[in-house]
Amino acid sequence: MRILIVDDDEDDYIILEDLLYDGIGKVGEIVWAKSFDHALELIEQSDFDFYFLDNRLGAKLGLGLIQEIKQRFNIAPPIIMLSGVDDHQTDIAAMEQGADDYLIKSQLTAPLLEHTIRYTIRDKTLEYRLAKLAHYDSLTGLYNRSIFNELLRTSLEQSSRLNQKFALVTLDLDKFKFINDNYGHPAGDQLLTKVATRLKNCIRSSDIVARLGGDEFSLILKDVKHDKDFIKLVENIIGVFDQAFQIANQHISATTSIGIAIFPNDSQTADGLASYSDMAMYQAKSAGRNTFSFYNQKLHEETKVKHQVEVALKAALQANELELFYQPINSLKNGEITSVEALLRWPNSEGGFHNTENFIAIAEESALILDIGIWVFEQACQQLQLWRQQGFNDRRISINVSANQFNSNHFTEIVTGIITKHPELSRSLVFELTERKPLENTTAIINKLNQLSDLGICFSVDDFGIGHSSISYLRAFPMNIIKIDRSITANILISKEDLALCKAIIALGKALDLAVIAEGVETDDIASKLKQLSCPSAQGYLYCRPMPVNELESWLGQHDKKVVSNL
Ligand code: GH3
Ligand code: MG
Repeated sequence: MRILIVDDDEDDYIILEDLLYDGIGKVGEIVWAKSFDHALELIEQSDFDFYFLDNRLGAKLGLGLIQEIKQRFNIAPPIIMLSGVDDHQTDIAAMEQGADDYLIKSQLTAPLLEHTIRYTIRDKTLEYRLAKLAHYDSLTGLYNRSIFNELLRTSLEQSSRLNQKFALVTLDLDKFKFINDNYGHPAGDQLLTKVATRLKNCIRSSDIVARLGGDEFSLILKDVKHDKDFIKLVENIIGVFDQAFQIANQHISATTSIGIAIFPNDSQTADGLASYSDMAMYQAKSAGRNTFSFYNQKLHEETKVKHQVEVALKAALQANELELFYQPINSLKNGEITSVEALLRWPNSEGGFHNTENFIAIAEESALILDIGIWVFEQACQQLQLWRQQGFNDRRISINVSANQFNSNHFTEIVTGIITKHPELSRSLVFELTERKPLENTTAIINKLNQLSDLGICFSVDDFGIGHSSISYLRAFPMNIIKIDRSITANILISKEDLALCKAIIALGKALDLAVIAEGVETDDIASKLKQLSCPSAQGYLYCRPMPVNELESWLGQHDKKVVSNL
């Protein structure tokens, strides 16, 4: 225990210190402030567990320190005023300002001190417990409605000061009465507690979750940067209900309806946001439950479409309906195939394919891209193994890897696991890193790339020349190949700037000993120009479109193409 004694009379301080030792023994540190100003300094520097304040401090009153102490705490530690015999009025004033007790200096004894300390601490503990009851929901331990409303107001002030967006999410369990009726009220209680725990675990520590009452919960999800982040956020919450809840040896499934209002877009007041997220939640209920709804209709439609695509894509991945197509990469020196790029295709119900760029962009906004990335990698490895069994040891596949895959450790672990088992595959793999979504230049990411590079995997910078960090990529990461973006290649015959860029990238590749591949070559004229510029390799519809593996085999046969592993 740290005790602060504020008294301008050293003798009085020494007497109190001795009595404290006699009364409660050596219980920690006793600090003496010898004046009002010294006390202010100490109070500001650090917090104490117990304060004794003499009221007469020269020209100033100890009373003036009570507020200084109290404003530092939600519930201040005990404050005891020390006064003279005739100071009854001041004692009353002190109690009104929040002092916990007063003692008359001339009457101080060790037992009296011990008694006072014990009782004020007991009262304080009770006060803490009461405050806890007033702020927390007793069933789930989450914040209750009254403190949540205060926290909402604080978040609003904070976000408006920092110019940040936040989401107010209201969720209400679906058909919860049915669970109470069928499994009993205690099981219902357990479900509420488990939902509370899962919600707490799915948010960041800066976010807030509360139980507003019954089966209704609310969340404040802070600092949402872009509208596209909302899909991830909603899916996190929906994910809380993916797995059934284990309650009294039974698996009970539950769903929820979710309403979302955004600060400052939908409203700039706490009441406005609360009522809009409520309205959105009821909209989700009337849309059939087990769904979400944004108050903002435009955001609602966009997020809904993305969510539907994501659900369908997840199902397609699980049902193994995705396919890899392959597009050859050609040497401009001798026409040989240097490798093939694997490109993801998702068949649609009309016999065609979904737009890959669109659905990948949606997958990138959620965790689905991680599963897709692993699927692509495993498919490519299987294909390479099949070719090796058929005697094609030189074939090489490049796959597109998103920056997000390197942000989680999972991808690197899977790759390392497979390559350790089949080290022969590493030299046949190229990871293409797109510049559209940049890799973070952090030690962790650099280490992951170096680790894979050490295993023998090559890296290529995709879409080079259009991103923001082209050159810095080459400096930071272990790159082997540069791919000139199609928008540059397509224009080299008509734009002086693009021609200059193309030449510069080829020269850069030569200087840094990196292979260079021009993407998107569609005409003979462009191919001739690239040859003239000594561009080593090219890829595009001029040579062939991406195709399924069986078509690739016959194309290679028909064109008498040999796949070589030289870059
Ligand atoms: P809806 O999909 O329309 O939300 O249907 P619902 O059955 O969930 O209905 P509603 O949300 O209106 O009612 C919630 C029910 O939750 C009402 C009440 O019986 C029950 N409930 C409220 N508080 C508690 C509690 O602390 N424990 C348990 N077990 N049940 C509670
Ligand atoms: Mg309900």
